[in-house]
Amino acid sequence: MVDVFDKLGRMARAAVYDAAAPGDNPDRASDRCGYGGPLLPARELHLRFRPENYIFRAKLPSGGCAPVLKVLMTNVCENNCAYCAHRQDRDIPRDTISPEELARALDELVRRGAVGGAFISSGDAGGAARTMDRIIAAAELIRRRGFVGYLHLKIMPGSEEEQIRRAMELATRVSVNLEAPTAEHLGRIAPDKRFEDGIMSSVKTVAKLISRGVRPPAGHTTQFVVGAAGESDVELLTAADGLYRIDGMRRAYYSGFAPVANTPLEYLRPTPVRREGRLYQADWLLRMYGFSLDELPFGTDGALPQDVNPKLAWARARPNLFPIEVNTADRGELLRVPGVGPIIAKRIIETRRAGKIREPATLLRLGARPLALEYVTLDGAYRPVGEATSGQLELGFGTP
Ligand code: SF4
Repeated sequence: MVDVFDKLGRMARAAVYDAAAPGDNPDRASDRCGYGGPLLPARELHLRFRPENYIFRAKLPSGGCAPVLKVLMTNVCENNCAYCAHRQDRDIPRDTISPEELARALDELVRRGAVGGAFISSGDAGGAARTMDRIIAAAELIRRRGFVGYLHLKIMPGSEEEQIRRAMELATRVSVNLEAPTAEHLGRIAPDKRFEDGIMSSVKTVAKLISRGVRPPAGHTTQFVVGAAGESDVELLTAADGLYRIDGMRRAYYSGFAPVANTPLEYLRPTPVRREGRLYQADWLLRMYGFSLDELPFGTDGALPQDVNPKLAWARARPNLFPIEVNTADRGELLRVPGVGPIIAKRIIETRRAGKIREPATLLRLGARPLALEYVTLDGAYRPVGEATSGQLELGFGTP
């Protein structure tokens, strides 16, 4: 078993570049699930493989989070994506874990309480169909062993429809990575990948199968590599906005580019963590706050402001829309208030059923950020708490 875990450690280390959740890279932006270690430290698990290095926390369809192992089945790859540590032309040790080995190792990790699920991806070894067959074989074995927990499977672009269907039947979530917002941008960083008849056709096949009732409980997702192809924020968010109109597409992940030695992009500067964070905030506005793409505060260069969160920038440009009366605003209006998110809006609506909200402390107790008081009235009274407190929001990556 030790050999399998040695190999698993190498394959899990290889998967670090594949974003499966905001914050699954410990150096990057985080959301509520964030990055987390195992339930037990490695020494208590008696493993040479140190799972705390390769585990992220995934949100479960039922609510809550679970520690999930992220692993590549192989880092052998026929492609030469310019940003990738596993590109074919890079001279690195290559390794492969078999479906049987992966199923056995996951079984052991689950039994020891280290993880509650897995995210399985792979380099492109032998073409999309062959690679997808191996991912499906691993998932079949994992399910056959009785595992009913979280299983996120990568769909290799260009896989056959029957393979995609089987993966969706086995998975909790599937993903097809776009990597770049347009075919032109993709061509700059991943010359072997095809945008329309490879990646997008697989995205559309997933959506078609979902519309026919093949529904992984956590839907499908995608990932962009941010900052490698010279793309702008407006180009990324335009692509994401289009994807959100597709059946079952839950969310896009924005994975900041980080240069890898001995790749064509090794001298490119890493994407600032703040850019990644602002993209996530703008994405939330599209998905959960009812904003449209043309309301987002892009500059003339297509970039989001970096020194202020996008909702605050939007609100500052529209002083005529504020203040909003907390006791009469509908949900959509409340979600426009800086420092008020969907959960807080729900709490406000529930609380005011029992009587008017008149005190700033009440609003803050419901979870609103102090800045919100600058944009609302409480039973007709305007009671902001001042710039010193409200300024805290501008640098944060939390509720926009
Ligand atoms: S397909 Fe591209 S991104 Fe994926 S492992 Fe191969 S070189 Fe890396």
